[in-house]
Amino acid sequence: MNVKYDFLIVGAGMYGAVFAHEMNKSGKTCLIIDKRSHVAGNIHTEKVEDILVHQYGAHIFHTSNKEVWNYVNQFAEFNRYINSPIANYYGEIYNLPFNMNTFNKMWGVATPDEAKLRIQQQCKDNYVENPQNLQEQAINLVGPDIYEKLIRGYTEKQWGRSCTEIPAFIIRRLPVRFTYDNNYFKDPYQGIPIGGYTAMIERMIEGIEVKLNTDYLLEKEQWDSMADKVIYTGPIDAYFDNRFGVLEYRSLRFETEVLDTANYQGNAVVNYTDRETPYTRIIEHKHFEFGTQPKTVISREYSEEWKRGDEPYYPINDEKNNILYEKYKALAEAESNVIFGGRLGEYKYYDMDKVVEVALQKVKAVLG
Ligand code: UDP
Repeated sequence: MNVKYDFLIVGAGMYGAVFAHEMNKSGKTCLIIDKRSHVAGNIHTEKVEDILVHQYGAHIFHTSNKEVWNYVNQFAEFNRYINSPIANYYGEIYNLPFNMNTFNKMWGVATPDEAKLRIQQQCKDNYVENPQNLQEQAINLVGPDIYEKLIRGYTEKQWGRSCTEIPAFIIRRLPVRFTYDNNYFKDPYQGIPIGGYTAMIERMIEGIEVKLNTDYLLEKEQWDSMADKVIYTGPIDAYFDNRFGVLEYRSLRFETEVLDTANYQGNAVVNYTDRETPYTRIIEHKHFEFGTQPKTVISREYSEEWKRGDEPYYPINDEKNNILYEKYKALAEAESNVIFGGRLGEYKYYDMDKVVEVALQKVKAVLG
């Protein structure tokens, strides 16, 4: 018995779920497969001690795109969580992103003009026209004091590379504000789905067949024969047997602990921005949902170079890897029955909202 589907969707993460939902709504038949034992990919959440734990790292949904915001709100009610991480530099605490609270603590300045003057003075001898890497870009934006205390150590731990070898765009993800506003994101819409991301994804794919613990690449031909088109959201280089070489990714490792205390660090996210502390941040999950449970769950996050068998989290979009990706992309474009989508399929440092956006665009293109 060989059922034929319109779409085989490889990967039950955000891209696959949006695509499947839309196609199912249009009357197309879909089968979703995923090698993990759960849906939702890296946004998977699971209850521990009645606290929703972000098993693969903290995910805060934020977007400037109203259409995307309305879209995800069909599947979950979002809470009012606003991300305001703090930085711990050898025990000194600073607010993030870089804003008047940070500047006040760093230099004692109280007004925006004083802060701007201070940054200007700091940058006088360091300013670089057309910054070519993260270090140059960061110093241009906030000067060497903040770069040394809040950026350099964290970034080098996260990426495992010197800041001079990391693309400048990565630091431009963070706002620099001359107001006393600790909101990490610039977007007008922000929150976390009440009940967790996994429940949200389950709602998206309701009524669609899902096979878990199923590794597509192990039996690719058999799976391909079951559908007219394949949506592949895994790593693009693995799809092509790494024939041009391996694309580089950063992987993460989490040490998660239940603690017998109600409030461990007073904030959901504390970044350790010194070079010595081996982890990049500690997440205290209950604060994402204003939790009042008697215990708490924390995860120390360690960043590592990806090697075979690890989970890939972040593509390394430097020049070398982007050139290699272009070679895979050319192969992907010649694969007429396969759509490559999402952070791994497109080898792009996408946020969740962007993934929804590109998946919806692809659906439109396919339906014509
Ligand atoms: N970053 C930093 N210090 C911090 C937090 C972030 O220097 O305390 C820099 C770092 O280079 C990081 C980038 O900002 O790679 C983007 O951080 P973001 O929080 O957007 O990363 P994500 O949440 O995707 O891991």
